[in-house]
Amino acid sequence: MLNIVISGAPGAGKGTQSKLIAQKYRLMHLSTGDILREEITKGTVVGKTADALISKGNLVPDDLIIDLLNQKFQEHKHFYKGFIFDGFPRTVVQAIALDELLINNGTKLSLMLDLRVEEKELIARLFKRGQTSGRNDDNLETIYKRLKIYHQVTEPIINFYKHTQRYNAISNTTSIETCFKQIEQIIDSIKPFDLCQNPTSLIM
Ligand code: ADP
Repeated sequence: MLNIVISGAPGAGKGTQSKLIAQKYRLMHLSTGDILREEITKGTVVGKTADALISKGNLVPDDLIIDLLNQKFQEHKHFYKGFIFDGFPRTVVQAIALDELLINNGTKLSLMLDLRVEEKELIARLFKRGQTSGRNDDNLETIYKRLKIYHQVTEPIINFYKHTQRYNAISNTTSIETCFKQIEQIIDSIKPFDLCQNPTSLIM
């Protein structure tokens, strides 16, 4: 399987690049933000808890999001050559849980892609997106809060992945195409050893 984490601050372009990666490498795109927004639209109990937190720029609790991700992984694992995890993990606890989930399913994480964009540009992108996205967390006050939480709670996962040689930083300040070309090069240079096979699912 080819399993990839795509990380980066809010507005770094995770969703856009994930869609391109999923399409080219035939991976299941799991976006925890999208999964939570679906729960909100459906009006589930999880959705109600998530809505109150997301609209204020806070993260949802680790155990809630880890459970949701586990469910989605089990639902899709037999139908794809791997996964692109978009917006997960966002804490070190989640990063450890993801490694456990993959190991328990006979596979592992192939690499982590970290999209880097400078703060001024992130704020401009999110603010612009807020004018059309309809997302109630794309307003200036919430954008600042999300960036602060990103630096405090999510950025530490970088060291977690550096320690295990799975970390790849990519600057995403030029164009969607240039960023994707760099990502393709990184993915195409993965050694077969890192495409851990899962006997119960399709393999590359
Ligand atoms: P962005 O990266 O633009 O902030 P996402 O769609 O990835 O957007 O996430 C939107 C919100 O959903 C986050 O601000 C957070 O409140 C919640 N969320 C998404 N993924 C996670 C996660 N792995 N852990 C906790 N909260 C999450």
